[in-house]
Amino acid sequence: MSDAIQQPCPKCESPYGYTDGQTWTCPECFHEWTLEEIAEEEAANGFFDVNGNELKDGDAVTVIKDLKAGGSTIKSGTKVKKIRLLDDPVNGHDISCKIDGHGQVYLKCSVVKKA
Ligand SMILES: [Zn+2]
Repeated sequence: MSDAIQQPCPKCESPYGYTDGQTWTCPECFHEWTLEEIAEEEAANGFFDVNGNELKDGDAVTVIKDLKAGGSTIKSGTKVKKIRLLDDPVNGHDISCKIDGHGQVYLKCSVVKKA
């Protein structure tokens, strides 16, 4: 929980949302929300590895199975440093990274675990 007196409206992004202690209200579009809703939404929009651990930009991960990448194979156990998470997935792939010997590749969160 934050102690902020104002929260940005998740609907119109007005910065003047105010709370009565439970529900937040936007004075500009009259949208109402709770911090729990926001937290749930963020969880749904987050990036999670195969074990359900949240992934962040810059994390290091390990590939958990052999993956075809062009003509070569990224072996299970390959370590990947400094992943970049994509808000707009490329063909269902939501991680962009560089792997030695493979260059720039896209991975799915479901085939990696946090290192
Ligand atoms: Zn609003």
